[in-house]
Amino acid sequence: MDKIILIKYGELTTKKNNRNLFINLLYENIKNKLKKYNVKIVKNRVRMFIETDDNIDEIVNILSNIFGIHSIVVAYKVDNNIDSIKTNVLDIVKNISFKTFKVETKRSDKRFPIPSMEFNNVIGGLILKNIPNVSVDVHNPEYELKIEIREDYAYIYTKEIKGAGGYPVGVAGKGLLMLSGGIDSPVAGYLAMKRGIKIECIYFESPPHTSIQAKNKVKKLVEKLSKYNSNIVLNVINFTEIQEAIYKYCPKEYMITIMRRMMYRISEQVARKRKALVIINGESVGQVASQTLNSMNVINNVTNYPVIRPVACLDKLEIIDISKKIDTYETSILPYEDCCTIFLPKHPVINPILERAINYENNFDYETLINTAVNNVETIVIDKENKKFDI
Ligand code: ATP
Ligand code: MG
Repeated sequence: MDKIILIKYGELTTKKNNRNLFINLLYENIKNKLKKYNVKIVKNRVRMFIETDDNIDEIVNILSNIFGIHSIVVAYKVDNNIDSIKTNVLDIVKNISFKTFKVETKRSDKRFPIPSMEFNNVIGGLILKNIPNVSVDVHNPEYELKIEIREDYAYIYTKEIKGAGGYPVGVAGKGLLMLSGGIDSPVAGYLAMKRGIKIECIYFESPPHTSIQAKNKVKKLVEKLSKYNSNIVLNVINFTEIQEAIYKYCPKEYMITIMRRMMYRISEQVARKRKALVIINGESVGQVASQTLNSMNVINNVTNYPVIRPVACLDKLEIIDISKKIDTYETSILPYEDCCTIFLPKHPVINPILERAINYENNFDYETLINTAVNNVETIVIDKENKKFDI
């Protein structure tokens, strides 16, 4: 009996007009993630089918992180006539241990002579007759045998695994993720990808105040995120001169406000250059002084570019839960300094005033510094399959 992986599409089935675009992109994303395996992928409007001689569990594991998939089913592909289905069902259930069961047939090929409900009874009866000590429970069965009768073959499901949901990465266009080494921004990136946004990242470093370990930690985070989105581009911006100028020319309590205004200005320029349509970051309302609504208002004032903050309204514990689930948490908590933390004033302003921020930052020629930083961006492509970083 041939095993086959069936992929059921996620939310995309509701988007009638874009359906082909969704399916084609999902197909490309899957093909890309499985390129080192020997697989045959066939797609139609309702399902995708993957056949392989390689390790099915490994492939299912990779598929379970690909957005746009509602569920993954490992099924046996058998001839779609009554006798073949019967024989194969017995072969399959023989090896499974259960006390109660239910059969659910879906007959999409109406030429098949027995209606679904009736066929449930036929197969249910067959199992009761051949397998000792089992009974039918239609409400809460221990084992659910699903049979899908299609025009080419019949598929007998063994197990159904929940997919990652969301939309295929890339379908929504590109976004630029402001990625620090912290807990929040990788989670923000994950959530953005889940909605179909292909991400690129931007990281601000301030050598020698920030170390190579801090940068490698960010690379490691990008590598972890590339599980969901292959080949992520990381734009590294040297922020040292700007940060030193802020330190020199602006009052301590406004440093963070002004620093973040500079980050937004640079992010907008890089986003335009890289053709990203939105900026994404890990800000969460009220978490720190720069994330009060007042601060966000003054900081965001430098740009008209759309900014998405996927974790804005989540509690820290909720963010941590996701970061553990996506395996970024352990990397995020490594104790390397961030450029935000090294110049951190004791009492950053909680309710900054826009006019003051503008006056202070006009104490130095930030536009030239910003242009230099943007022109000297270091662009790194990080592909999970190819690289490992020492941290
Ligand atoms: P995180 O846990 O993501 O570091 P945080 O709670 O430490 O967030 P901040 O340091 O105020 O909060 O940063 C808020 C957001 O600004 C981050 O989530 C990230 O999107 C962006 N950001 C902060 N520092 C950097 C940096 N060095 N490079 C790129 N983006 C940054
Ligand atoms: Mg941070």
